[in-house]
Amino acid sequence: MAAPVRVRFAPSPTGPLHIGGVRTALYNYLFARKHGGSFVLRIEDTDQKRFVEGAEQYIAESLDWLNIPYDEGPGREGNYGPYRQSERQSLYQEYVFQLIDSGWAYYAFDRPEALEAHRVDHEKKGKTFIYNWHNREKLDNSLGLTSEELAKRLDSGEAYTVRFKWPKDETLVFTDIIRGEIRIDTNTLDDKVLFKSDGMPTYHLANIVDDHLMEITHVIRGEEWLPSLALHVKLYEAFGWKAPEFAHLPLILKPSGKGKLSKRDGDKLGFPVFPLQWEESIGYREAGYFPEAVVNFLAFLGWNPGTEQELFSLEELVDAFSLERVHKSGARFDPDKNAWFNQHY
Ligand code: GLU
Repeated sequence: MAAPVRVRFAPSPTGPLHIGGVRTALYNYLFARKHGGSFVLRIEDTDQKRFVEGAEQYIAESLDWLNIPYDEGPGREGNYGPYRQSERQSLYQEYVFQLIDSGWAYYAFDRPEALEAHRVDHEKKGKTFIYNWHNREKLDNSLGLTSEELAKRLDSGEAYTVRFKWPKDETLVFTDIIRGEIRIDTNTLDDKVLFKSDGMPTYHLANIVDDHLMEITHVIRGEEWLPSLALHVKLYEAFGWKAPEFAHLPLILKPSGKGKLSKRDGDKLGFPVFPLQWEESIGYREAGYFPEAVVNFLAFLGWNPGTEQELFSLEELVDAFSLERVHKSGARFDPDKNAWFNQHY
């Protein structure tokens, strides 16, 4: 029997919830309800530099106002908590050591200035700097060291990060529910940092470990995370875990079609991009919209029911929703026609 469906919305509390984020939360919610599963809110707050006070509360209040409640998350503890990554910090380290022991990760001692110099040097030559262990003569990591040399450097208290070790010359093939089959040559990929010198895991490590421990069956998130998918799929393999299914949602685009819709675009066009008021910016609630109308509008930005029906209650959306009917291309607002379109640019 298939495992019960468990999905999550995993925002970083770096500011207010943009409509793209709300739509991701909504699709996760609809998918969970449709399949009788659970919808988890996980706060990804391991990046202390980008943390914004009040953002988590804003996110929770926005979901409540929109009537898309989460089953588990901060303040609604299930059996998988805590649901804030900063409160799970001690857990990640053991997993990173597991990867070092099995040869899937290694210590890197490069100073940030040295890495920046490499980057600039490559740029001057019109090349992209890829950090991988095949370039290691230029880089300062543990792969060429004897175990004594490595022990000495670690004992000296020298700062290090831990990086993923991509296998050389491999073509990865995996499937995304929305994007279909994806192929990537591992030689084009960076050996990404998994563990930072401040003792914090990076997004990649914490995200994978938590999705596994929280028994997430489907990862439904924005397309901006598609470039990380190869690493995530491979991390599951490295740990010997079953990967969840992945579905990457198309972006909500700027009117020009280039890049993600920003608050400034919304201000110019005269519609809010946040559910509730945030600082000086007006939200849907303050602009007098009903939450049901916002939910209905967002559901259609990137999905269609395959029927003529245009107005759906939340229950009807739950019934009609399927990932197979999510579009591959981004949604774009055309100010001349005063309407949204789902099309490729
Ligand atoms: N913390 C990431 C974000 O802020 C989560 C991405 C994901 O869902 O994996 O969007």
